[in-house]
Amino acid sequence: MAMPLATEKEYALRLDAADPLAAFRGRFYIPENMIYLDGNSLGLMSAEAEQGIAQIMKEWRGKGIGGWLEGAPPWFYLAEELGAMIAPLVGAIPESVVCTGSTTVNLHALAASFYKPVGRRCKILADELNFPSDIYALKGQIALRGLNVQDCLLLAPSGDGRFLDEARLEEAMTDEVALILLPSALYRSGQLLDMPRLTRKAHERGIVIGFDCSHSVGALPHYFDEWGVDFAFWCGYKYLNGGPGSPAFLYVNAAHFGGAPMLTGWFGCRKERQFNMELEFHPAKGAGAWQISTPCILAMGALRGALGIFREAGIAAVREKSRQLTEYFILLADLLLPEHVYGVRTGTPREPERRSGHVALEGGEHMAAVNHALKARGIVPDFRPPGIIRFAPVALYNTFYEVWKTVHTLKTILDNGEYKKYSAGRSVVA
Ligand SMILES: *Cc1c(COP(=O)(O)O)cnc(C)c1O
Repeated sequence: MAMPLATEKEYALRLDAADPLAAFRGRFYIPENMIYLDGNSLGLMSAEAEQGIAQIMKEWRGKGIGGWLEGAPPWFYLAEELGAMIAPLVGAIPESVVCTGSTTVNLHALAASFYKPVGRRCKILADELNFPSDIYALKGQIALRGLNVQDCLLLAPSGDGRFLDEARLEEAMTDEVALILLPSALYRSGQLLDMPRLTRKAHERGIVIGFDCSHSVGALPHYFDEWGVDFAFWCGYKYLNGGPGSPAFLYVNAAHFGGAPMLTGWFGCRKERQFNMELEFHPAKGAGAWQISTPCILAMGALRGALGIFREAGIAAVREKSRQLTEYFILLADLLLPEHVYGVRTGTPREPERRSGHVALEGGEHMAAVNHALKARGIVPDFRPPGIIRFAPVALYNTFYEVWKTVHTLKTILDNGEYKKYSAGRSVVA
């Protein structure tokens, strides 16, 4: 029997039939009649996440405050337990990771400790393509030190508004830089930065470096300990499927254990001393010291369920399928939507090791309307200005057939002009 062409449905179905992770899709609630490709913004709910929350509710109902020590596992240790669960996904010892706060709050908590401007070495190096919230936080941290934001925040430029060049980032690592904060993967283009190389170069120049890994944890493996990254943080609601507003994570390299957290709070105490209610702060030994306040146990229940699935699937298998899904997407876009005809092009690196879990298609101003038209047909990617639609085929619950169907539908919408019925504006939550 002849092998079908990549553009034929049969080809996608064969890839699905050979997919070792196919069974995991059944663990998720896939909204009816929907092709959901927005797991890089909000991952879908799994039965395990639902059960995880239900379990905490049951413990609260049955035990009241007793759940702090009698929950299974005890709520008092849940933040550390979730840190230990996710540690293998990021290549860290369990004590280096804790579940706490939220993304931007964790950046503040970490920058408060790791940004130590001294004399000439007083600047923070970030990049102009970063997620705005991270930049707001860095500006606040500089202003808090009584320094001038204009002088002290260096935003490495991107040549093309799409990608960052590691060599140019290295050039910007001067002896005036005290701290570097970069994303692991860019939220629009999906470019994955070379974290080990950047960490090595930063350390050669005596600069502390941290990464916002919101767009890569859960999509691919990381090796923070091996790379020597000083700190990192990431959210729980994108590829990790922890639910809307899920608690986030932070990582602190063991080399910094014992360093002083600056946004201190009682949940950063050594567990056995926390309820001594002493006015002197005795920090926990590991990353737990950077916790501030009572965690949202309910939300952690969902996250715990969601993380259990990763333990079963294995992050290497997740990365392999994710890579194949994005590769198939790019191939179909090349074959079905040639740029000279459709004015649409792939804005994500073509080398698989240089991209994370989504594909960005760039077009003109009409892409917001195209995004609306896709949604009207039950396909849910997301739109980011200017003119970018992001498609995240997620390894744990998307199929090759869905990728096939999406690119074909996109072609139909562009061919028949159906998108012209829709407004060019984006939604309030894009
Ligand atoms: C998703 C994301 C955020 C979101 O910040 P919250 O504090 O969770 O609202 C921040 N930074 C990056 C890079 C992100 O991808």
